[in-house]
Amino acid sequence: MGRRSCKDSVVKITALAGGIGGARFLRGLTQSKKVTREVDVTVIANTGDDIWVHGVRVCPDLDTVMYTLGGGISVERGWGREGETFTAKEELAAYGVDPTWFGLGDKDLATHLIRTTSLNAGYTLSEVTSALCDRWQPGINLIPMSDNRCETHVVIDHPDTGARVAIHFQEWWIRYGAKLPAHEFIQVGLDTAQPAPGVIEAILNADLVLLPPSNPVVSIGTILAIPGMTEAIRNTSAPVLGLSPIVNNAPVRGMADACLSTINVQTNAAAVARHYGSRSDGGLLDYWLIDHTDADSLGEIEDLEITARAIPLLMTDVDAAGAMANSALDLALEH
Ligand code: GDP
Ligand code: CA
Repeated sequence: MGRRSCKDSVVKITALAGGIGGARFLRGLTQSKKVTREVDVTVIANTGDDIWVHGVRVCPDLDTVMYTLGGGISVERGWGREGETFTAKEELAAYGVDPTWFGLGDKDLATHLIRTTSLNAGYTLSEVTSALCDRWQPGINLIPMSDNRCETHVVIDHPDTGARVAIHFQEWWIRYGAKLPAHEFIQVGLDTAQPAPGVIEAILNADLVLLPPSNPVVSIGTILAIPGMTEAIRNTSAPVLGLSPIVNNAPVRGMADACLSTINVQTNAAAVARHYGSRSDGGLLDYWLIDHTDADSLGEIEDLEITARAIPLLMTDVDAAGAMANSALDLALEH
């Protein structure tokens, strides 16, 4: 890996990200004064959550990152727009048309309409994302993991019929609150999916690759499954550092525990590190940051040959996330 000193130059960072956890971390990395280095950030976003709803293409994680970094996110909800109304959703429900459980906001609908029109006109998702970012100016280079449709579906026993069926991830997550036991996650379209243009280069040419505290299964895991992605992370000369999304044996918000149990990984910071594995042993991580309340497991993680530190990992505000990002840079670039 070699020692890198990037104090005086811009640090090229490539991060993989899901929605809320990824976006909050990235906002700290790029917008907090706690980060003492100049950074140039490329984000490879999960598009496994993407779904067609009432004829429009919705990309929840791309939009969460775009709105959070562009200042348009609902602070209270963490997804969708601030000052949102849901008139269109209520009108659609009044017609009794499914899905009624999806939180389609009126302001958000404008984003989805533009995306859908542009996709129908033949633009790629990368091109459309870049055009949407012209308005939001998120201060990062935001790229979808793939321009191909590759959606996460969840195999469950249907609550009414008992039949084993696969439903869209969003239906499992939102409609059923991730409470129906998931037998398996399937990425529909993975066999023909390719990384979006620039994704592999961004990993190979980075000074540092980051895995923010995003869901290890249905955010980071989904991105890693795209052909060539894991190989690029294993082969990059940049150090790879992850931050645990599991704090004190629980996901801070959301239902990541339900996803982890489906792939037989326990909900704790050391188990997630073991799941990603050490780069020295064919895995992905050089460094793993865990929350200070989990400091007991530092030895277990170091035994995996992953350099670990325990620091506060709760993203209570922009500066708390910024402090996490700064610790990540210090550890990976100066160690
Ligand atoms: P999603 O696509 O909106 O579910 O967002 P991500 O996959 O990017 O992030 C979700 C994960 O973020 C959850 O599984 C939580 O474990 C994690 N998370 C949320 N808030 C925090 C926090 O303050 N600190 C840490 N360490 N993890 C968090
Ligand atoms: Ca997501």
